[in-house]
Amino acid sequence: MLTKILPASLASPAALWASPALAASDSASTTSPWVALAYLVAGVFFILALRGLSSPATSRTGNRFGMAGMLIAIVTTLVTHSVASLAEIGIAIAIGGLIGFLIARRIAMTAMPELVAAFHSLVGLAAVLVGWAAYLNPGAFGLLEGDAIGAVSKVEMGLGIAIGAITFSGSVIAFAKLSGRMSGAPILLPARHVINLGTLAAIIGLTAMFAMTTGPEETLPLIVGLTVLAFAIGFLLIIPIGGADMPVVVSMLNSYSGWAAAAMGFTLGNTAMIITGALVGSSGAILSYIMCRAMNRSFLSVIAGGFGADDSAAGGGEAREQRPYKQGSADDAAFMLEQAEKVIVIPGYGMAVAQAQHALREMTDILEEKGVEVKFAIHPVAGRMPGHMNVLLAEANVPYDKVFELEDINSEFSQADVAFIIGANDVVNPAAKTDKSSPIYGMPVFDVGAAKQVFFIKRSMGGVGYAGVDNDVFYMDQTMMLLSDAKKMVEEIVKALD
Ligand code: NDP
Repeated sequence: MLTKILPASLASPAALWASPALAASDSASTTSPWVALAYLVAGVFFILALRGLSSPATSRTGNRFGMAGMLIAIVTTLVTHSVASLAEIGIAIAIGGLIGFLIARRIAMTAMPELVAAFHSLVGLAAVLVGWAAYLNPGAFGLLEGDAIGAVSKVEMGLGIAIGAITFSGSVIAFAKLSGRMSGAPILLPARHVINLGTLAAIIGLTAMFAMTTGPEETLPLIVGLTVLAFAIGFLLIIPIGGADMPVVVSMLNSYSGWAAAAMGFTLGNTAMIITGALVGSSGAILSYIMCRAMNRSFLSVIAGGFGADDSAAGGGEAREQRPYKQGSADDAAFMLEQAEKVIVIPGYGMAVAQAQHALREMTDILEEKGVEVKFAIHPVAGRMPGHMNVLLAEANVPYDKVFELEDINSEFSQADVAFIIGANDVVNPAAKTDKSSPIYGMPVFDVGAAKQVFFIKRSMGGVGYAGVDNDVFYMDQTMMLLSDAKKMVEEIVKALD
């Protein structure tokens, strides 16, 4: 039966294992000290890249280090490998490069998180395919000990396939949620923790059995089983996560993709991949931990998927009552901004959508010329990716010393004359402190209510933030709603200030 469904090589891996042509070891000559040295240098460049990327001021240099490291790794691999012809590899690089170039040219900044999730899914899929290729043709990967694959190699293979499959299906769900193709609200299955733990235990058990079993016919059902279950657990782990926890999911999948690459590196015997994968895996894990702390979430509860969440906190599109609010114009806002001594600007996702950062910078310059002190307050999850607002403000040349993190500026709202909210919503929503049933409950938010006056720029009263919940700030006495596209509104304020 299996032989009818699967291609010949898959149905009968023994055919490949025994094939002398394919079993001839083509694997990397990674034993050469020069190759090891080149990969080590690439690894050092990647570490310098991470160091550079840790601050906006040095991020460009960090990027250049990363590019140099990647160039060294690619050239070394091309020079020392003989698996495929250089022409074939060149064609593959050209096709991939062209697709990447076109995507990068077309992608809107606001769609970056979903693009990142889509790319993570490819890393995961690549790990699964490499694992399967190694299983079907172990000779080409230098994995045969006698006429069977060694137990250690099988553990590496099993782990690579499992982590890769989890990364793939988890990233596909994250992509669907972030791009709005699927509801961002948590989907909570009954007994999900039991199902998840059972599936994880089965994957570990199958990997152990796979490592201990020999012979292609006996190992095939085990590797098929662990691949299918790993795809399923990636899906199950991500569907219950939603609302305010999605940023953590993005960085967590980033971490998984790193571990998948490291596992691939073991299978391929490639030191550069092991180093790079471990760097991505550990930095992603550290970022997830930092984001969890910033969001007041326990790391375990997020990775276990929807721990602590119940159906009442599922959020998204709740019915909203009509409440009175004050609406103002650009002229009103300009007049009050001019009178202020201290203004704190809180940018959010809507600023990115409207691309209002340059107009905002212009407004800031005029206010400062008029003697107003202006500061920018950045929430760790503002926008749709870590550092989203920092990138946009840096692009508009807002000096770094005017940009403050949540914990450094939150106490200053009580001395501010104006809290200027531009396209932010969830990050200023007091429900995070007061409403236990809210999907953002527990997340630290800016205390904009402490400012004397609040300006809130959004397009309409109908729109909600990412978590899909109403915001009491709209209806506060000192709030003036400025309902318009953010860029248009700020340009009008600039005109009125002039
Ligand atoms: P929100 O998504 O909560 O709110 C965006 C606001 O911008 C809405 O009020 C929307 O209202 C308004 N808006 C949209 N387009 C425009 C426009 N062109 N002009 C003016 N206003 C506009 O943004 P926040 O930054 O406050 O919060 C980020 C949310 O995203 C958090 O819940 C976070 O958990 C989540 N998230 C963050 C990620 C990250 O890594 N940073 C990743 C994934 C999710 P209207 O439609 O009426 O204009």
